[in-house]
Amino acid sequence: MLMTEEEARTKWCPMARVAIQNVASDMAVLTGSSPIHPVGNRATLIAGRARQCDTATGSRCIGSECMAWRWVGDANLWVSETCPTCNGKGTVPFASGGYEDCTTCDGDGRVNGRFEPNPKRVGFCGAFGKPEA
Ligand SMILES: [Zn+2]
Repeated sequence: MLMTEEEARTKWCPMARVAIQNVASDMAVLTGSSPIHPVGNRATLIAGRARQCDTATGSRCIGSECMAWRWVGDANLWVSETCPTCNGKGTVPFASGGYEDCTTCDGDGRVNGRFEPNPKRVGFCGAFGKPEA
């Protein structure tokens, strides 16, 4: 599924591991060791009990901070503005007739060219292959 990195960060990651703190004492008795810190793939807070897990959000996707994250689309886009002198035509008229290259944009018709982050860039979790669409 293609999505923005911000959208991905709201999803659960089945590869994540969460260490659980304050394990019930009967668990420690069963294993014969204390303290123990079991590790699971998600954290679920149980209503009415004190903090059970490291964090309820600890098992979410971390987007591009993960080695499995794959981008689709360019990171940056080239943007520019219409030349105000020639109105994007690249030429300006001579007073005596005819045209010459616009000196403001060197005949390009565009000014202030620069790279800006691509706001439509999306990605996907590559841990389970490429998405079909
Ligand atoms: Zn121009």
